[in-house]
Amino acid sequence: MFEKNEIVGELLMKFNAPRGTNDILPPESSKWQYIEKVTHDLFNNYNYQEIRTPIFEYTELFQRGIGEVTDIVEKEMYTFEDKGGRSITLRPEGTASVIRSFLENKIYGQAQPSKYYYIGPMFRYERPQSGRFRQFHQLGVEAVASNDPALDAEIISLGIRLLEKLGLKDLDVHLNSVGCKSCRPKYVEKLKIYLNNHKDELCDNCKERIERNPLRVLDCKNESCQSVIKNAPKITEHLCKECEVHFSKVQNYLDILQIDYLVNPLLVRGLDYYTNTAFEIKDNALGAQDTVFGGGRYNGLAEEIGNRDIPGIGFALGIERLLLSLEAQDIEIPVKASVDLYITVIGDRAKKEAFKLLDILRKAGFKTEIDYLGRSVGSQMKSADRMNAQYTIILGENELKSSTATIRNMESGNEKEIKLNNLVEEMKMLVDREVK
Ligand code: ATP
Ligand code: MG
Repeated sequence: MFEKNEIVGELLMKFNAPRGTNDILPPESSKWQYIEKVTHDLFNNYNYQEIRTPIFEYTELFQRGIGEVTDIVEKEMYTFEDKGGRSITLRPEGTASVIRSFLENKIYGQAQPSKYYYIGPMFRYERPQSGRFRQFHQLGVEAVASNDPALDAEIISLGIRLLEKLGLKDLDVHLNSVGCKSCRPKYVEKLKIYLNNHKDELCDNCKERIERNPLRVLDCKNESCQSVIKNAPKITEHLCKECEVHFSKVQNYLDILQIDYLVNPLLVRGLDYYTNTAFEIKDNALGAQDTVFGGGRYNGLAEEIGNRDIPGIGFALGIERLLLSLEAQDIEIPVKASVDLYITVIGDRAKKEAFKLLDILRKAGFKTEIDYLGRSVGSQMKSADRMNAQYTIILGENELKSSTATIRNMESGNEKEIKLNNLVEEMKMLVDREVK
């Protein structure tokens, strides 16, 4: 979209980014890089490997893998026909693609479990607000082909440890089991009866969902629905023996890892393929959109999209929400905005020498900058100041003649002459390479 601004006799077009999308500008982008780096390191430490699936998939994958009666499939997908007449959808989440890829590439023939993670943009047509966008970013993990409850605890702890590494505190872990194919239907019947008795108090959307997918009602954020939901029958009281054992083992393993949690029997995930463990990690400081990450077991998904009975568990974390949470908790991400060195040039001949020096210093690992606007020496020094340069290296005719450079410590103002031959070695001793 663009706005038209009429100015005297001229048509000025002003383009805006689409609603619900964001530019991630520097220095903000450094925070993203930092989070991504911590993620790569930590996930690698847990032996999860990165998987990169396409940004778009055939629409049917999400219809089948997420479920027809979900907010995502009903109203939030960016779906279009490509020039070959195929229905394509920008991915609204990552799990369906990972399982599609696992099946398509016959990974199940290899040693299991397979442990993956991804980081990237997701697309949902939602009402943009704080912590809710149309293009947003998730980092997520999926552990496929094991039903071990210890893996459920590993997945939850992995997310928690990541947030801890970034400095976040006081997060609430909500934990539930949503049962399985054999115990859930009985619970769903009970829930239906209860919801029908309170139909008048539910929003229109939920009224309609009682028949089609009553579990979804528990996920509704509408206030009057919430007060009905509070007293609804609890799935934890209807689990079969197997699901009960699984749930209590997950809790035992979390206890071993000393991770506190709250059993929340009304927690259901927004997607249909979940079985057993469901969890959400919330930061109270965030307000309405307080879930930083959520996930659960999806033992029914591979069956749904590939006719194979392969269990899996994972979580997805919203990076924008993570950043909001860091902000709310006053946590500064250590990003280096400053440069190590700034080369100040006096005269044309010195510029050539300086340009060569720039390359040498950068190769030696110094973050180095030079003037590209033909500025005066004074303005170059101001520029160096703005970039928080630790040292400026001043090169002019005089220095060239003696094959030296004047270096200036920008904090103390002290200057010193150094032979160009020794410059790299000297700077290695002087420059403090810690993140500033
Ligand atoms: P919510 O209940 O907040 O809509 P959800 O159940 O739709 O979340 P998931 O599909 O499980 O969320 O996605 C996992 C995480 O991705 C969420 O916990 C949240 O941090 C983030 N997320 C989901 N939708 C958005 C969005 N539109 N904008 C920003 N972050 C999002
Ligand atoms: Mg949602």
